[in-house]
This record gives sequence, C-alpha cells and structure tokens, in this order.
Amino acid sequence: MLIPVLTVFTAVCSALLKSLGAALALGLVLGIAGAVLAASVVSSQVSAAQGRSERLLEELPSAVLLLRGGVLVYVNRAGRDLFSISNEATGRRFADFAPALLSDAVEEAHQLRQPIDVELQQHQRLFAVRASALGADRVVLVIRDVTHVRRVDAVRRDFVVNASHELKTPVAGIQALAESLSLALRHDPARATRMVGRIEQEAARLAQLVRDLLDLARLEEPDSALRRRPVDVTDLVRRQVERLQPLADERQITIKTDLAGPGVVVAVPEDIRSIITNLLENAVRYNRHGGTVDVSLARADGRVALEVTDSGEGIPEPERERIFERFYRVDKGRSRAEGGTGLGLALVRHATERHGGTITVRSEVGVGSTFRVELPIAGQQQGP
Ligand code: ADP
Repeated sequence: MLIPVLTVFTAVCSALLKSLGAALALGLVLGIAGAVLAASVVSSQVSAAQGRSERLLEELPSAVLLLRGGVLVYVNRAGRDLFSISNEATGRRFADFAPALLSDAVEEAHQLRQPIDVELQQHQRLFAVRASALGADRVVLVIRDVTHVRRVDAVRRDFVVNASHELKTPVAGIQALAESLSLALRHDPARATRMVGRIEQEAARLAQLVRDLLDLARLEEPDSALRRRPVDVTDLVRRQVERLQPLADERQITIKTDLAGPGVVVAVPEDIRSIITNLLENAVRYNRHGGTVDVSLARADGRVALEVTDSGEGIPEPERERIFERFYRVDKGRSRAEGGTGLGLALVRHATERHGGTITVRSEVGVGSTFRVELPIAGQQQGP
C-alpha cells in the first residue's frame, strides 16, 4: 500500500495544482511536501509519512482514485461517497461501477500518456475530473465538485450581460440625440430644446442605474457590524414621503401615514434608506392616477414592521417571487417610462436579509399590493 499511497499523493498534488489553481492546493502541497520527502529519504520515517499522506488524502474534499490496469487500487473517502462504494471495492474493475465517461477517460489517459479532463454530471451535481497516467500501468483520478463554482460563474456572467445591456440603452440614446442636436440647433431651435430635455432624461436614467449598481456592490461587501448604528425609521419614512410628495401630487395620489411609536433599529443607515425609498417610489410609480399609498410602521416582538400598500395595478401571482430578481420587470415598457432600473426590489431584499429581516408581498391584480418588511430592532447579522 505504501507505494500507491505516496505515488497517488504526488500525482494528486500536481493534479490539484493544475486543476484547482487555488491557494488551497498550494498550501496543501507545501504543507505535506515535507512528509513525502521524509518518506523517500529515511526508511524509519516512511510509515509515519505514509500515515500522514493517507490521512490527508482521506480528508481531501476531492475524490481521489488510483487504478492499475483498470482495477481500483486506492480510493479516498470522498471517492467512496461519490460512487457509493466501501473500502472493499479495491480489487474491483473500475468499469464495473463507474460511469463509462470516466472509464473512457482513464483508458485515454493511459493510451495517450497525458492528462485528460472531463466533466461529469451526477446526482444533479457537476464534477471536474482529471485522469493522469502514472508509470506504465497506473492512472490516478482526481474528481472535484464544481457545482457551486459554476453556478456563481453563471450568475455573474448573466449579471454582466444584463448590466451592459441596461447601460447600452441610455448611452445609445444620448449618442443619437447628441448627433441630431447639432443639426436641430441650426434649423429648428424648438426641436433642439426638446432634444436637450430628452438627453437630460437619458442621463438621469444612466445616473440612477449607476447609483443602483453601486448600491448593489456595497450590499455585497462583507458585512461589518461597525457600520451599524441606531437608525430612526420613522424619521426616514417621513423624509422620503416629503421627497415623493411632488410626484404624488402630479398624479393626484394621496400618501397616508400611520407611524405609531418610535421605530428605531440598529442597522446600516444607507440600507434602511434604500428599503424605504424603493418601496415608496414603487408604490407611487406603479399606482393609478388619483390612487392612494398607505405607509404604516409598527413594533412587535422585538421587530419593526414597515408596510407600504398601494392601489395600483397589482402583481400577477407567478411574478411575485421574480420581481426581487435583478433586472426583472413585469412590464418593461412601464418600468422604463417610470425611470426604473429593475434593481430596486433586489436592493430591498438584499438590504432586508442582511439585517436578519424578512420581506413579503401580498397583491391582487387590479386592486393593489402590500409590501411588508420586518426588521429586528436590535440589529442582527445575516445567518450563515
Ligand atoms: P423597477 O426599477 O423596474 O421599478 P424594481 O426592482 O423596483 O424595479 O421592481 C421590479 C418590478 O416589479 C417593476 O418593474 C414592476 O413591474 C414590479 N413592481 C414593483 N413594485 C410594484 C408595485 N408596488 N406594484 C406593481 N408592480 C410593482
């Protein structure tokens, strides 16, 4: 067993370095290199090194298998879990219990004498597999679960594509307007004035988008209790209602408030402002002409509950969860016309959850919607 384990160990180190490319692998290799060296120099230390190497291989999160002539010689714990086999499986032909994709990779690595990389989908998870030939007839397999990494990559890629697309629209608008503006200035001053107005609108949309993106980036920073302090929610709600009053008046919307008792929470002030601003703005923007907005604040069970109810168009059932996704809008045209970015509710949910709070929505199409945010008064870190 000594030779296989030490050989596997060396091969795993190099496979991990190549496939992981992470500091973790480097640390692992450096940390155990001494053990391998000692084992090859002093025979009395060999068994100790072997024990250590075996234990390390056992604890690796990646599955490691050594095959000789297509027969399993060694498998660590992650490998036994992955293939649902026991230690007794050593001595069995690999092709008898492994997916064909893997036994083919083993065969190919053996034939071509070079590492073969494949991806394996199993139990709804994705694994990155590297098969490397060792000596004349041995092949080592290192299998890493990359499900989470790939998911995060995909989310990030989608986000970049969406954000670029959203930025492109106002930028293209400004470019086109600026081009025709110089002509209009000479021949049609009235049209030129209208164009300046539209450029201002597009620039405002761009500025709002950049603000929201920066807010989102701030919310993703590591949570720091140091930035938390007592925030007067009642006062913030009052100020935001005042700020929105001109827009509400323009649409003859009545904003009613019921702010019972002092609503102070220990929180990151910008987060609370973001929650209130976005909910109130939406309640006015997606309301009907002459409608109402009811804002209430109450305390119960160590929590402050903010409810914003509007008499707007409502949100159809299948959309109620999706509206919290970044860039998701029920009616894209309406959101754009209202200067929306599609990021408001994503910011609200993010900010609420990182304070240990909850957000819920009740809605009836054609009647209106109620958004309810509950925040712990004492201020809580988000759960792991
Ligand atoms: P936006 O900038 O588009 O308003 P949000 O993330 O704030 O982005 O909201 C996402 C979508 O949810 C909106 O585009 C709209 O379709 C819908 N929505 C949000 N709030 C309301 C509301 N109070 N009433 C009806 N629909 C709403």
